[in-house]
Amino acid sequence: MNHFAYRDGVMHAEDVALPAIAEAVGTPVYVYSTATFRRHAQVFRDALKPAGRVHLAYAIKANPNVAVLRVLADEGYGADVVSAGEMQRALAAGIPASDIVFSGVGKTRRELAQALDAGIGQFNLELEEEGEVLAALAHARGERAPAVLRVNPDVDAGTHAKISTGRKENKFGVAIDQAVGMFDRLSKHDGLDLRGVAIHIGSQLADLAPLEAAYARIGELVAELRAAGHRISRVDLGGGLGVPYKPQDVLPSPAEYGAMVARATAGWDVELMFEPGRVIAGNAGVLLTEVIWVKPGVVNPYVIVDAAMNDLARVAMYDAYHDFVAVAPTGERMTANIAGPVCETGDTFAMGRDIDVVKSGDLGVFRTAGAYGATMASTYNSRALVPEVLVDGDRFAVVADRIQPETILAAERVPEWLKR
Ligand SMILES: *Cc1c(COP(=O)(O)O)cnc(C)c1O
Repeated sequence: MNHFAYRDGVMHAEDVALPAIAEAVGTPVYVYSTATFRRHAQVFRDALKPAGRVHLAYAIKANPNVAVLRVLADEGYGADVVSAGEMQRALAAGIPASDIVFSGVGKTRRELAQALDAGIGQFNLELEEEGEVLAALAHARGERAPAVLRVNPDVDAGTHAKISTGRKENKFGVAIDQAVGMFDRLSKHDGLDLRGVAIHIGSQLADLAPLEAAYARIGELVAELRAAGHRISRVDLGGGLGVPYKPQDVLPSPAEYGAMVARATAGWDVELMFEPGRVIAGNAGVLLTEVIWVKPGVVNPYVIVDAAMNDLARVAMYDAYHDFVAVAPTGERMTANIAGPVCETGDTFAMGRDIDVVKSGDLGVFRTAGAYGATMASTYNSRALVPEVLVDGDRFAVVADRIQPETILAAERVPEWLKR
């Protein structure tokens, strides 16, 4: 459920008509709904009530805008971060350091030190050497770093290959059959407080079965670790729950997920950690765009919009589907291709799709663009960096400026020897 809906024939974000935002801020622009973020945060939390002791860390890479983080901090969410930059954002948004989890396969020594300085709540270790380095850094500070070991359960998440993370050939986690030995060795370090294990098998999962299979393997591992004498107080079950991108998509609901988690983890007696990203942010945002041209094509016309692959990369990167609708539909339909202005054939959002009739100057939105949208934007083709707007009831604010090509150009230098 989300708060983007038609009123009197015009799409609104909560109580704000989208043309008012286009008028004030220009296009393309991401528009987020505070009420939708809050609702998703609450529904996910409520769904996990049957699972007992739970810590929620929003995976901020899905949408790291500081205003969005502030909303989720208000809802009591911590943060799952994958770089020092994301950690800085989480702290800037007022998320307590102790509620921050640091994930990622390539944390640098410098980032580990920064995170220790900040006092973050949990390091998710990706390899044994990382644990050794972290232990040494913490020990030198007279501290013990709180950590869990990320395990790769070798489960096929059944999602797009580029967002699958839990198969043995993926770069993430340590092989599950080596986890006990590694845990034995790492837990001997004074500088580490090794509390448990973590998994995250992929994103946009449309089926609970791979998650349940992975959780079953983790349950067995927890039992083995305890049998080996380790105290296991935390298990981090990652993120990955999918969202509907097509109107006809049916995905597991948070309630179904919560019931599965309660079933799969019964008797574990640990604090469960979750790192939801997409399920919180996906349907809380749209990308608002203006039609530049409707270009006649050989097969279908091309609707050329002012948003492009640099603003919303998911289609070019993962063959993703984003629903496209007119902001003020006439009721007529047409079959068209939708593409952006970037000079790449990959800058195509849809081919041969049945859409609302639009013409030059009309506004449209790509729906379900709140996750992995603005955060992946670039300035390719020397386009501006796309701005972001947050709506709350009948008010809205620009929460990220449009960064113009002049500003990017001003950060570039011609060396002395090329000057004339
Ligand atoms: C990306 C990521 C998440 C969030 O995944 P979603 O599919 O957006 O829920 C959670 N944990 C880790 C370690 C990640 O890399």
